[in-house]
Amino acid sequence: MDRFKRVPIAEQDPKVRATNFDEVCLGYTEEEAIQEAKRCLNCKNKPCVGQCPVSIDIPRFIAHIAEGEFENAAHVLAEYSALPAVCGRVCPQEEQCEQVCVLGIKGDAVAIGKLERFAADWARHQGIKLGERKESNGMKVAVIGSGPAGITCAGELAKEGYDVTMFEALHEPGGVLVYGIPEFRLPKEEVVKYEVNSLKNLGVKIETNVVVGRTVTVDQLLNEEDFKAIFIGSGAGLPIFMGIPGENLNGVFSANEFLTRNNLMKAFREDYDTPIKLGKKVAVIGGGNVAMDAARTALRLGSEVYVIYRRTEEELPARLEEIHHAMAEGINFEFLTSPTEVLGNDDGWVRGLKCQRMELGEPDASGRRRPIVIEGSEFELEMDTVIMALGTSPNPLIPATTDGLELNKWDCIVADEHGQTSKEAVFAGGDAVTGAATVILAMGAGKDAAAGIDKYLKEKNS
Ligand code: FAD
Ligand code: SF4
Repeated sequence: MDRFKRVPIAEQDPKVRATNFDEVCLGYTEEEAIQEAKRCLNCKNKPCVGQCPVSIDIPRFIAHIAEGEFENAAHVLAEYSALPAVCGRVCPQEEQCEQVCVLGIKGDAVAIGKLERFAADWARHQGIKLGERKESNGMKVAVIGSGPAGITCAGELAKEGYDVTMFEALHEPGGVLVYGIPEFRLPKEEVVKYEVNSLKNLGVKIETNVVVGRTVTVDQLLNEEDFKAIFIGSGAGLPIFMGIPGENLNGVFSANEFLTRNNLMKAFREDYDTPIKLGKKVAVIGGGNVAMDAARTALRLGSEVYVIYRRTEEELPARLEEIHHAMAEGINFEFLTSPTEVLGNDDGWVRGLKCQRMELGEPDASGRRRPIVIEGSEFELEMDTVIMALGTSPNPLIPATTDGLELNKWDCIVADEHGQTSKEAVFAGGDAVTGAATVILAMGAGKDAAAGIDKYLKEKNS
């Protein structure tokens, strides 16, 4: 065994996967996982653990895999994370635990994420139940939003014996995990549903189709329904547009709407009544993970896809793995390009994009080189569909209908490190507080808030 070389993982062939929605990465076999786990040095100072937002004891779960003790590995993961099979698939490990892995200094970091996925998948296939609940303490807590922040907060509180009800605006629980991240990166039925259902095993009640702020308000939950504390994990699902002419033409989507129609409404399946009309040539504006997901989804629906990004490949903010996957599948990239207008035909449908070329200047506040317009460089691209993937912000509904909830200038709810907001008994975390971030950061916030709620209620009732 070469200790500095990662055991390769099987993936669907790019040409084949570009035409289906099945998962791209096929995961390790038992033998491969053991071999990869044996590379771990079991470092005394565990730098990888310090970089994990939920502090998973990484060497401990990996050591179990190395010994072939897969069930023990899954139990270690369950001590720290409610969503190990999800995180093993979508966390940016290369910027977290794997970035500081000691083996990475001279060779390849241990494939921590792929091993996490392996252990969680193995336990699921064996039907092993993870996590235990203490005896009920009779106190009711409401969790608003069923994304990673809400799921984690609800799970932690249920384990402590609280009577938790989760309210979700959509008809399926899971947040971005069900409506945003596509099937080919994160299978819904097999992985997300299973991990969400394990919440039900802990006694959490899930009420879907409840829009807090419309169906019921935060104040009503506190004052009329006897909830002793509330966690708001409502995410950041409000799309941002460019503000250029033509954005209201038929054929312009926000990435959120486009992905929701595919993931949640199953537009890609012929046996569903909710199809999507997509043109032959699709432009996706943006360069983050959401842009890659939208582009790769449009490709699988049969379109020729162009990602339009105003900086260069080097500055693309998406995960490297996603960029490589997108390129291998045949997505085209127009770098140093910025749209100035969406062009329409006489019937009000998109016919193209007016763009201008950019060059890179000095670094801006984000540390990335600032794109500068090249005067006189305007040109047109023929397109039938435009998908805006420029980012999202928190939805204002809950703050607008709740007395005394402080917001910052980006419309995010203000909360301290324990999730406590400006309103008594109301806690918050995840994208609703930080703005669009990551699954694991939202989970970390959900966990901290659960501890905050537990402390608050214990002190109040002592
Ligand atoms: P969300 O997941 O947004 O969940 C919030 C939930 O609250 C939603 O279900 C929403 O319907 C519900 N809600 C909102 N308002 C109300 C209301 N008034 N009443 C009741 N319910 C309400 N992160 C990664 O780490 N890796 C990735 O690869 C990755 N890819 C991504 C791809 C896409 C397309 C998107 C959009 C995001 C991606 N992210 C990724 C980011 C990550 O998914 C989010 O940071 C994370 O889901 C935030 O979790 P959350 O629980 O705060 O919010
Ligand atoms: Fe293992 Fe890398 Fe963590 Fe060291 S830093 S314990 S080698 S995973």
